[in-house]
Parts: sequence; structure tokens; C-alpha cells
Amino acid sequence: MLDVAIIGGGIVGAACAYELSRYRLSVAVLERENDVACGTTKANSAILHAGYDPPPGTLMARLNVEGVRLAEELCRKLDVPYRQCGSLVAAFSGEDAGLLRTLYSRGVENGVPGLSLLDAAQVRNLEPNLSPEVVGALYAPTAAIVNPWEYALALAETAVRNGVSLHLNAGVTAIRRCKGGFELDTAAGRFWARYVLNAAGLYSDEVHNMAAAPAFRIHPDRGEYYLLDKSEGERVSHVVFQCPTRAGKGTLVAPTVHGNLIVGPNNEPPRERDDTATTAGGLEEVMRLARKSVPSINFRESIRNFAGVRAAADGADDFIIAEAADAPGLIDIAGIKSPGLSAAPAIARMAAELLEDCGLRLVKKDFFIDTRRRVRFKELPCEEKARLAEENPAYGRVICRCETITEGEILDALRGPIPPCSVDGVKRRCNAGMGRCQGGFCGPRVFELLARERGLPPEEILQDRAGSYIITGKTKMGGAGLV
Ligand SMILES: Cc1cc2nc3c(=O)[nH]c(=O)nc-3n(C[C@H](O)[C@H](O)[C@H](O)COP(=O)(O)OP(=O)(O)OC[C@H]3O[C@@H](n4cnc5c(N)ncnc54)[C@H](O)[C@@H]3O)c2cc1C
Repeated sequence: MLDVAIIGGGIVGAACAYELSRYRLSVAVLERENDVACGTTKANSAILHAGYDPPPGTLMARLNVEGVRLAEELCRKLDVPYRQCGSLVAAFSGEDAGLLRTLYSRGVENGVPGLSLLDAAQVRNLEPNLSPEVVGALYAPTAAIVNPWEYALALAETAVRNGVSLHLNAGVTAIRRCKGGFELDTAAGRFWARYVLNAAGLYSDEVHNMAAAPAFRIHPDRGEYYLLDKSEGERVSHVVFQCPTRAGKGTLVAPTVHGNLIVGPNNEPPRERDDTATTAGGLEEVMRLARKSVPSINFRESIRNFAGVRAAADGADDFIIAEAADAPGLIDIAGIKSPGLSAAPAIARMAAELLEDCGLRLVKKDFFIDTRRRVRFKELPCEEKARLAEENPAYGRVICRCETITEGEILDALRGPIPPCSVDGVKRRCNAGMGRCQGGFCGPRVFELLARERGLPPEEILQDRAGSYIITGKTKMGGAGLV
């Protein structure tokens, strides 16, 4: 029997796995998709929020501020792209300026360091491309940007290297009480665990209801985005928000850790929980709102649109992190809307404390791997590049020309602790296909390497999720095989 089964391999499940892998426990992550970080963790604004937005006294406020503090060290140790660029909330009217003062006081109460209110001239000094309509801003120097899926992957990989078992394509379909814990049916077989962490994101209410009486419902809320080419990447150097509304933090314009510009989101009820389609109307709205902050954005440089779905719970405007009242040993980590990415490491610590309160003994391992390194060839000094390419010629062959990603880096990804099974899985691990051509040139080469390394026939190679086959069959037979 496992000590802990974690349901869901998003940033929350991955952070919990990392945290629990410090202890002498048997832990498994059960994830429905064919990779980690395929849910909301894959599609969001990628901001580590400073923490002035959540109402004081809420879990969101406490865990946001603590999570951002922990993230800086974690990203350094686990080699996750992270940049503390600071954020601005722009005010466009006297009413907005009043709201900024409220946010400032809230931030001070939440313990956010370094907040200040700027006048119009100070704001423009920091961000010359902001609209002349901006009358002031709240400046939060601790806000940062991160690569969200690499963050989750790094935590999950480190957990796996420390002994956590990861089961992909293992969606949980039923949970029953059994002697000493729970019996879980999944698409990959049956598991038994003394304790269960429910980190199933958009489906956390359904997972809760498998073992306990209904206590909350998830209300999905979709946000759409533009990702712009690096030619627009320096349009702003801070995360630029507008004043938050009841619907959320509003539309932002921000640099990404990869050097692009991200613009979004809006708020739209999706047709289904995981409906991540974008719509012409939604994107038009995002464009209009973003131009209010930064009128000069050149949307012709857009290289990708995407959408993510927030998992807000009904009832209290807060995260739900607690043992289920009628299912002792089942801990819900639900309603993890924004700032869930920011709060994740602190959520994981809280989950570990709750498990301890429930009776789980947490004894530290003598040996815990707490570092991770990835070759990022293009960032190396010339001599180091030359040395690496001589040692291993695969580092001398550039496969993704837009992002300068070498065959060596793709092979590292394919041979890593959680090997990818799709072209997008490779992209999430080493950035091949993330550039301006979005995999148009390197996609077929990544496809070949994936088939070769995983020993799979081409017809079984996936673009992304289960069923997203790239090749459906042979059209011509010739000496070269598939044509
Ligand atoms: C538009 C948008 C913008 C956002 N921007 C930010 C931001 O800038 N900063 C910030 O801090 N937060 C932001 N957030 C919030 C943040 O993205 C989420 O809080 C966070 O990703 C939630 O992580 P999670 O692990 O709970 O959920 P997920 O990433 O969705 O992971 C849940 C996992 O559970 C799996 N699962 C579901 N059901 C089952 C089952 N039955 N069995 C097994 N596995 C299952 C899913 O496949 C999924 O992988 C944003 C969210 C959205 C939608």
C-alpha cells in the first residue's frame, strides 16, 4: 500500500510530489494525461504574482506570498527559467487610482515587500510604451515570470529521481474506502493508498465526489491569449496589469522568460471544462483591452493563440485545502485558480502539514536530490559550445533553427527522468518548436528522433494528447518506407 497517492500532475500535484519526496514515504502521482503539466498549468499567464490581490486572511493571500518567496530558490536549484521583472498595475482614472491605494494597503497587510505607488511620470520612466492615458501605477518589485510547464516538470522530475512513482495515462475513475486507506481504480490499474491528495484541478470536485459527499463545485472560466514573436518581446519590461475587476486580474501585457510578449487573458465560460479553444470574439476583446495599456503592440507578430481554463470553486472566494469532512485521509486541494502557480510550493508544504495532522509520520530521508541541470546550448559561452560539440557531436547539430535547439538537447529531453511521448512533450522540455515557425521546420526532425529513441513506429507518434496522431497511415509504398 502506498503512503500517499497524489491525483493530478499539474503544478500542484508536482509540487506536492517534490515536497513529499523529501520523506521516507512511498508516494505515487496518478495523472490522467500522457504527460505532466498538461492541464491549466500549461496555459496561463506564467506570472508569479507579488500577492497584493488576494483578500487578507485568505489562504490565497498567505500561500501566494510564501509561494513566490519559495519559488525563487526552487527555480535556481532546479534550473527553471525565472526572472524577477516586477509588475505594474496601471490606473487610467481617479477611480482606478483609488483602487490602487486599496491594493497597496492589501499588499502591505499580506506582507508583500517593496510596494510603491507611482505617478504618471514615474510609470512612463519605467515603461515608455505605456498609454499616455495611464495616470499612475502600483509597482510590485517581487513579481516574477517563469516557464510554468518547466517549473512543474522540474518538480516532478526531481520527485521521480527521489523515488516517487509517476503513472501517466492513469486517470482515476473510482475511489473506495478499504482497510487502512483507499482503493483507487485508474485507467492504468488499481492502487491502494493510506492517504489521497486530490490535486485534480478542473476535475477536483468529481474526484472529491468519488470518495465523499459533494461539498463544492468547480466553475470553469476560460482565458484566451496571444503569444507574440520576440520582435515584440521588449515592448514592455514589467508585467503590466490593469486594475482587477470582479472577473479577475484583467488583461495583462508581459514579457515571457523566453523573450516573447504574452497578452491576455479574458474571461469566458467554456463549453466544457477542458475546452481550450480560442474564439475570434475573445481574441478581439483581448487585443482591444491590451491596446488600452500598450497601444503600440503589433499583433501581426502573433505566433500563437491559446486558452487556459481556471478552476474556481463555488462558495468562498479562496482555495479549498482541507481534509474532506466525511472521508478522513482524503485531502482536497481544490479551487486552485490564480494565484495557484505562484502559491504551489507553499500549497505543497501545507498539504504535507495536513497529512502529518492526519497521522502520517514525516521522517526526512538521509539523502535527497535537490538539484537539476539542463544543457541550454545557445546560452553557453563559445568555448563551452565547442567543447560540448566535440565531446558529443549531437550538440553540434541544430535542429530547431528559430530557438537554436540542438539534437543533443532533444536527446537529453527524450532520455530524461520523465521521457516525453509526443512532439509537444519534447517542445515543453527543451523548447524545440517554440519559435517563430512553431515547429514548421523542426517538427519532422523531432518526430524522427522521438520515433527512434522510443522505438515507436511513425503511426504511433503523437503531436500532444492521447489520440493526436500525426500520421494516420501509409499513402505510398516505396523503398524509403513512408512517403
Ligand atoms: C487563464 C489563466 C491564467 C492564469 N494565470 C496565472 C498566473 O499568471 N499566475 C498564477 O499564479 N496562476 C495563474 N493561473 C492559475 C494557475 O494556472 C493554476 O492555479 C494552476 O495551474 C493550477 O494547477 P493544478 O495543478 O491545480 O491544476 P492542473 O494544472 O489543471 O492539474 C490538474 C491535473 O489533474 C489531472 N486530472 C484531472 N482529473 C484527473 C483524474 N480523475 N485522475 C488523474 N488525474 C486527473 C489533469 O489531467 C491535470 O494534469 C491562471 C489560470 C488561468 C486559467
